[in-house]
Amino acid sequence: VKKPAVVVLGAGYGGLMATVKLQKLLHPNEADIVLVNKNDYHYETTWLHEASAGTLHHDRVRYRIRDVVNTNRVKFIQDTVEEIKADEQKVILAGGELHYDYLVIALGGESETFGIQGLKEHALSITNVNMARKIREHIEYQFATYKAEDEKREELLTIVVGGAGFTGIEFLGELVNRVPELCEEYDIDPKKVKIICVEAAPVILPGFDPELVNYAVSLLEKKGVEFRISTPIKECTPEGVVVGKGENETELIKAGTVIWAAGVRGNSVIEKSGFENMRGRVKVDMYLRMPGHENIFVIGDCSLVINEETNRPYPPTAQIAMQQGEHTAKNIAALIRNQELDDFVFDNKGTVCSLGEKDAVAIVFGKKLTGFKAAFMKKVVDNRALYLVGGLPLVLKKGKFKLL
Ligand code: FAD
Ligand code: NAD
Repeated sequence: VKKPAVVVLGAGYGGLMATVKLQKLLHPNEADIVLVNKNDYHYETTWLHEASAGTLHHDRVRYRIRDVVNTNRVKFIQDTVEEIKADEQKVILAGGELHYDYLVIALGGESETFGIQGLKEHALSITNVNMARKIREHIEYQFATYKAEDEKREELLTIVVGGAGFTGIEFLGELVNRVPELCEEYDIDPKKVKIICVEAAPVILPGFDPELVNYAVSLLEKKGVEFRISTPIKECTPEGVVVGKGENETELIKAGTVIWAAGVRGNSVIEKSGFENMRGRVKVDMYLRMPGHENIFVIGDCSLVINEETNRPYPPTAQIAMQQGEHTAKNIAALIRNQELDDFVFDNKGTVCSLGEKDAVAIVFGKKLTGFKAAFMKKVVDNRALYLVGGLPLVLKKGKFKLL
């Protein structure tokens, strides 16, 4: 009898979690498991702001897929997914095609530019290891150029961060610790460096606990960040960003570095494959399946799950992606065994927003934390993610242990 092929696309939080659970749950006689990923490594997307600022080397945020997946059991294909042809049960890869009986789409998100002019060309987004390296190098290059030129262009030392959501704030938290080191390295007066965060909404971290927001803002302001709220980026140019000011006016903020951290959307493969979507995300059913396709599961940043209490989608996070990955593995095993499927219920354990290595704000199990305790909690969360995928050996190899 031919075994069904279970194909997982993407080895991020959702896909890798689904794969390691599938390899545990399914007997080799029950199904073939295939994992496809662009790179031969997994990266911790949730640590990319550190690699981007240069406070953590990019090799610390990634590990080899072969170190956590049993390649005797799972066939790993390093390739890029281009399109999914659901009517033919086929995945088109850059280097070939792949048949599936069950499919897990876990390709993660992409930066959302809302069609704002110039962002794709002139701004940088914290999206993967390649971009993290580029951002780190770009900032250093601006500092080096400033120093090497006779005519001083102080705007080279201005860094604009667009968006004060969790990504923007966590990146700023790292940046304020990195800039003094850079100033030392490049012989630059720290007073000349400007870090400006522009946020379209009238508040920082919209929707987050106001007390914790105040803590974060005052800490970052003390370390030199200038916040400009109700200030939407309208355009990005080689000189910097054009922002809205008051009713009808605009202003050019000159900057050598523009980081766009103002939103994510689902992977473009979703749209390219013709699936119904909202900003690249598929609204899944209660089993995390794509409507109309009983053998396709969509998880992580490519999926949209409605929170019944608020009637709004859950924000895309690593936390929900990992839970979806585990749940999907169980549901696929059930499908193969002709058993009942289980509904997905998100168990929200809270949110921790780091403010550099030694500080953070958090709501964990409904309790507010700041400072040392919250920063410690961040390390626990980071190490837990490693543990859930690769057990203790991975924690020992890649974990964060430096106490504050
Ligand atoms: P990812 O983990 O992004 O993985 C997608 C995988 O698919 C990658 O391996 C990628 O290489 C691969 N891939 C993409 N396209 C293709 C293709 N075409 N072909 C083949 N492979 C492909 N969430 C939290 O819960 N807590 C946090 O503290 C937190 N911090 C964050 C900090 C930052 C700086 C950022 C940017 C995000 C943070 N998030 C956090 C959000 C979280 O990282 C995402 O929600 C999560 O990564 C989504 O998981 P995923 O499995 O959908 O995708
Ligand atoms: P986000 O959508 O949460 O925040 C984007 C911010 O940019 C918003 O505050 C928005 O008002 C602002 N914005 C939008 N357009 C703008 C414009 N034109 N000019 C200026 N500002 C503009 O995006 P994010 O911060 O990248 O987060 C993405 C997802 O990842 C979220 O679900 C978030 O919860 C998750 N995340 C979680 C953590 C954490 O738990 N520590 C860290 C990072 C990201």
